[in-house]
Amino acid sequence: MIKLTTENTQRAIERCKQLRPKVRFVADRTFSVISANNDNSYTVRFDVRGNEKFGECECKASEKAMICYHIIAAATVNIYRQSLKRQTA
Ligand SMILES: [Zn+2]
Repeated sequence: MIKLTTENTQRAIERCKQLRPKVRFVADRTFSVISANNDNSYTVRFDVRGNEKFGECECKASEKAMICYHIIAAATVNIYRQSLKRQTA
C-alpha cells in the first residue's frame, strides 16, 4: 500500500478532475474504478493507520508506488460515504 500525502496526490487530483472516472462501491474501503480511457476497471483499496491514509490500485502506476487518479476518485467517494455514515449514526 502507498501512503497518501499532499505531495504525491496533487498530480492525481488534477488528472481525476479532468477525467472524472466512474466509481463503484464494492465493500467497506474497497472500490471499483472504471478507466476513463477504456472499459477496464481497477480495484482500489484503502487502509487507515493512526492519522495516515494508505491506498492501493491494480493499475500499472500503483505498481511503481505512484498515486493514480483511480485512488483519488475512490478516495473522494470513500470520504463522502464516511460523512453519510456519521450523519445517520
Ligand atoms: Zn490506478
